[in-house]
Amino acid sequence: MAISAQTSREQNQRHRIPAQPPALPGCPQCGTDAYLEFTRYVPASYAPDPENLRPPAVSYICKRCGNHYSHRTPDDWAPPGWQWYA
Ligand SMILES: [Zn+2]
Repeated sequence: MAISAQTSREQNQRHRIPAQPPALPGCPQCGTDAYLEFTRYVPASYAPDPENLRPPAVSYICKRCGNHYSHRTPDDWAPPGWQWYA
């Protein structure tokens, strides 16, 4: 059946890209958030598809070890000093 096949494919796609659980920013390698420099922050309300609101997303660099990170954050988190202007 076409319908059941399509449903099955959508489920597979959903499983193929597992949702990353929101996490607070930090550098696992350094074990601290003291050296982070935030390069990008997308509030949940700015998600591309507002009907399917997602947690905020953040990208940052650890200035100590140079690692880059990008992941989702809890809804109530924002970078230090984040202001609602751009
Ligand atoms: Zn680091």
